[in-house]
Amino acid sequence: MYKDAQDLGPIIPVHPTRLRLDRSPRLAPGQVYVTRTGTLYHSAWCTVVAHKWDNDPDGLILIAEDTVGRRKECTDCEEPLTS
Ligand SMILES: [Zn+2]
Repeated sequence: MYKDAQDLGPIIPVHPTRLRLDRSPRLAPGQVYVTRTGTLYHSAWCTVVAHKWDNDPDGLILIAEDTVGRRKECTDCEEPLTS
């Protein structure tokens, strides 16, 4: 984790348009998940995102894919837990 994740680019939250039964946000096309202090973006509901949702749901943020800044793609997202 970087000392200042904001250096990776500002987080511009978007409102989730689709929710699962447990109220967790689903990605719409062109959206990804980030966390306030994380250095990665997530294009799927991977173990990292699920863990964040379980422990700090308010810290899980949806942003538009073209605003990820210098955040890197999460490799866990290659094996998503759910759609
Ligand atoms: Zn991920």
